[in-house]
This record gives sequence, structure tokens and C-alpha cells, in this order.
Amino acid sequence: MSKITKRGVSPFIKRGVLLPSMKQPAASRPIIDIAPPSRIVIPLLAGDGSECLPAIKSYDTVLKGDVLGISETGDGGRVYSPVSGVYVGTKKILHPIIGNVTCALLDCMATGGETGKFKDTASMSEQEILEMASSMGIIDELDGQPLGLKLAAWRKLRRVMLVADATEQEPYCSASRAVLKDSAVQVRDGLALAARAMGAKGFCIAVMLPQKRLSALKAKLNDGDLFSVKGRYPVELPSIDGCIVCRIGVQACLALYRAAAYGEPPCGCVVTIAGDAVANPQNVQVPYGTLVEDVLRFCGLAHEPEYVLLGDVMTGITVQDADVPTIPGITCILAFKSRVQSPLHACIGCGRCVSACHRNLLPYEIMRRLDNMQYERLSQLLPDECDGCGACSYVCPSGLEVTAKVLEARDAQGNIFMKWGDGDEL
Ligand code: SF4
Ligand code: SF4
Repeated sequence: MSKITKRGVSPFIKRGVLLPSMKQPAASRPIIDIAPPSRIVIPLLAGDGSECLPAIKSYDTVLKGDVLGISETGDGGRVYSPVSGVYVGTKKILHPIIGNVTCALLDCMATGGETGKFKDTASMSEQEILEMASSMGIIDELDGQPLGLKLAAWRKLRRVMLVADATEQEPYCSASRAVLKDSAVQVRDGLALAARAMGAKGFCIAVMLPQKRLSALKAKLNDGDLFSVKGRYPVELPSIDGCIVCRIGVQACLALYRAAAYGEPPCGCVVTIAGDAVANPQNVQVPYGTLVEDVLRFCGLAHEPEYVLLGDVMTGITVQDADVPTIPGITCILAFKSRVQSPLHACIGCGRCVSACHRNLLPYEIMRRLDNMQYERLSQLLPDECDGCGACSYVCPSGLEVTAKVLEARDAQGNIFMKWGDGDEL
């Protein structure tokens, strides 16, 4: 039986794709706070994903930062109120990212919570930082994972460089660079805390910026705080000083700093709102639980959107209904007048998806083997190395959802049907 492996892919082909930058005008505008919507819908999930029960009674008033829910498992997981308001009950929703979840409904009030007293973070032990990241439920916006769990897992690694990834390589999102522009020193200090907690050898902030903006940022930070990268999408961060690179998000760094220095739980995040249906594309500070439709309305709709994405165009998720709450991990919401889709054709074997794949996979072959249920050969094509970057779908002239197929193959690895194996002699 012939073996197809990724060794068959030439190492001399330039991988990845060139993407247009659509970050303007949002990227050059200041971050703006959203006006409080009348009601927000907060998923009662702690940072580690465990379900929480309401910690207050109906029609109680809560202030921003108060505890709203406590984990059912009693392990200390908390949900904090992102705004001040009146708790009016719960409802179950089907969220496109987190699935079925019970949410607390809060009628917002215009008053804010108090800013905590500044506390010097220099004396915090590694364990204290880890516990604080977990108890405050800080979620890393890069992957939606709890920051405390990530840092604790990385403590087992040797020679690690912790990188705050602000490269934002997809076309529209500019939330990280907006946060860096406003709070570069706080982000760096939060990153330093995270690096200390996990025992990293060093830390830096990775950026992909034009020279002028890079120089402006360098003026705010120390030499060596920034690491500038270039290349085609998706650029994978190289090993730095011979260390393994572990990545966290810029907003997670800022949340860690504010939790440590002011005792503030993360109550929201900066989200890029853009797309051709949006009248005023900008970066908006949004409390968690704000409905997507409220955020879009705040920025103004030039057209009724036919197509709304949670996330950027390469990796975002389409939502049918903008009546869903924002949650930690969403840093970009796009609304478009219409969905431009290439007419669907069969695969013509052009190989563009292969050239685009930065993981040196054979996406069209994975897709074909999956469709033909040739599971043994499929596993030899290493679909589990796919990171879902979307480059293969982007370049496909036949308009095929190549990424979705590769991810389907990846996620089915280990499934009992994938172990049938030998019957695939097609
Ligand atoms: S989505 Fe997966 S298969 Fe497609 S280009 Fe990216 S890594 Fe390669
Ligand atoms: S880019 Fe599309 S048409 Fe070309 S080989 Fe890949 S899947 Fe087939």
C-alpha cells in the first residue's frame, strides 16, 4: 500500500497567502466605550467553562465587578458582573461558540463600579498570580482558553519565551494594536507577571506594524520588549533565543495586570467592529454580554447586513442572528451587505491549497480521502496538524470549503469510525 505523507510537499514553495489589509479606518480611530445597552445577557460560565448558579436574587442590584454567579462544582469559579444593573432572571440560549448555556439577564444602569486601590505587584508570588488569573476568570482572547490553566500547564516546559501576540494578521481586526497604543506599559507589565507565573525565560510583544507605528510603540517600551515579524498569512512565530514560544493575547495581559494591580475582574474587551455594512468602523470597549446587534447598532449600520461574522474573515464564525451576546475571546465583529461566494465547482487539482498551507499539508487530498471514507490514508495525511487558518479555502478557485473539511478530518481523529482502516483501497 502506497504511503502519502507530507514529505511529498516541496519545501521550496513559499507558503501562506498575501491578504489585503482592511484595518482602516478602525485602526486609526481611538477606542470608544459603548453606551450602556438597556439589557445584557451574561453566560453563567466560569473561566474554566464550569456552569455557575446565580449568586443573587431576582431584582437585586449589582455593581460592575460584583459576583454574579458561583460555580456549581464549588471549586471557586466565578462570573462577575460586567456592568452595574438589576438582575432580572435567567434564560437559556444557543450560542454559536459555547453552545447551550444559561445566561443572567441584567438591566443596565449608567453607574460604574469603583476603581480598586493600586497594589504593587512586585511582591506577588508565582502561585498568587496563577490563582488570581483563575479566580478572576481571565480568558485568553487568542483561543478562548482560561489564562490560569494555560500558564500552569506551561510551567512544565523548559526554556520558554512568553509572547503577547499582537500580530493580528487577518484583514480587519485591530483590537490588539488599539489596546497596545493606549496601554502599552500595562500590557507589558501584565505579560511580565504572566511570564513570572509560568517561569518563562523571557517575554516580548510580537507585532506586525508599519515602521512609523512601530517606532511610536518602541518609544513607550524598553528595548527588547517588542519583536517585529513579517511574512505571508499565517506567520508562525519563530523560536526566539532558542526558546519554545508560547503565545497569549494582549488583552489577557492587560486583564492580568488590572486584576493584580487593582483587583478588577475582566468585565469586557475591545472589539473591532467593521465590514461594509458598518457606518463607523471602530474599536469599541464592550462589556461581556452585550448583544452583537447592540454593538453593531452603536457603530451605525449603513446597510442591513446579510452576513455577520464573529471573528475575522479567515477564521470567524457566521451567525444567523445578531441576537447573541459577546463573550470573552470575541475581538472582532464584521457585518457585510452581502456574502460574496465563488460559484461552487469540483476540485480541479490546481494545488493552490497546498501552496497556501503553512503546515505543509495536502488539503485537497485530505478532503478527497474524507469524502471517500478512506480513513487509513487520511490519518497518514496528518490532518491533526491543521490549525484552521483558512488559507486553503481562501485560495480555492472552486469555492470549496476546504478548511472545514480538513478540520472535520482533524476532529474525527480518534473517532471509532476512523479506525476501520484497511478497507480503503480506492
Ligand atoms: S486551514 Fe489547515 S489545511 Fe488549510 S491552509 Fe490552514 S493549516 Fe493548512
Ligand atoms: S485549491 Fe481547491 S480546486 Fe485547487 S486543489 Fe485545492 S481544493 Fe482543489
